[in-house]
Amino acid sequence: MSDIILSTSGLTKQFGGFTAVNDVDLQVKRGSIHALIGPNGAGKTTCFNLLTKFFAPSRGKIFYNGRDVTGRRPAEVARLGLVRSFQISAVFPKLTARNNIRIALQRKRGNSFDFWRSERVLDALDEEAMRLIQAVGLTGYSEVPAGELSYGRKRALEIATTLALDPELLLLDEPMAGLGQEDIHRIEALIRTVSAERTILMVEHNLSVVANLSDRITVLARGQVLAEGDYTSVSRDPRVIEAYIGS
Ligand code: ADP
Repeated sequence: MSDIILSTSGLTKQFGGFTAVNDVDLQVKRGSIHALIGPNGAGKTTCFNLLTKFFAPSRGKIFYNGRDVTGRRPAEVARLGLVRSFQISAVFPKLTARNNIRIALQRKRGNSFDFWRSERVLDALDEEAMRLIQAVGLTGYSEVPAGELSYGRKRALEIATTLALDPELLLLDEPMAGLGQEDIHRIEALIRTVSAERTILMVEHNLSVVANLSDRITVLARGQVLAEGDYTSVSRDPRVIEAYIGS
């Protein structure tokens, strides 16, 4: 098996006459934590949306485990093991943490959630749900409605719902957005734990988090790859410094 889990070649997205992502070649190594950074408007979110098929690219290709997945539907890509989380928490606020995870576990089995389904089906998922609750540090919060959890715990729950889909490659869209320092440390530790078994590609604004976690960083600016390497090399790159200061 190749050690590149995800790659793009010439990935391009135009909105009308504007090119948001311009000829991006990305290579994500299996088992790594790879960060996509860049000033506002650099094209990070558009790139993420292309990778998870929320948008079709104008040009270019996406390969996942060597397979051309360009143009596949999001659900199909998720079934192959590429799952994304959202910048805005995507949990059901009125349902308990445990029920949010049970629903995600059921989705993994290829079923859309059926609210009229018997409780028995969901009960069978309890053990797995509790394991995930524990894994993300939410022991003691399983019966709390998601909407009543603190921001950081909600983020942990959101990560648990994506882990429920058992992704091989997890795309995290700004996992630290809106979090205080204490929660940042907690989610940082969680990402590190998760990365022991999975590859992670994340967009993150908090550069100290990027420095702490990433094995490799791709810097985008004006839709193009500006620099690539570890934190030390990209943070010293004059083009990167200029792009950030100029933004
Ligand atoms: P980033 O996530 O790095 O801040 P984005 O990918 O959100 O950057 O945006 C890149 C550029 O593409 C921005 O200039 C943005 O205005 C533009 N853009 C993003 N989405 C759309 C869209 N749906 N229609 C038109 N322009 C868009």
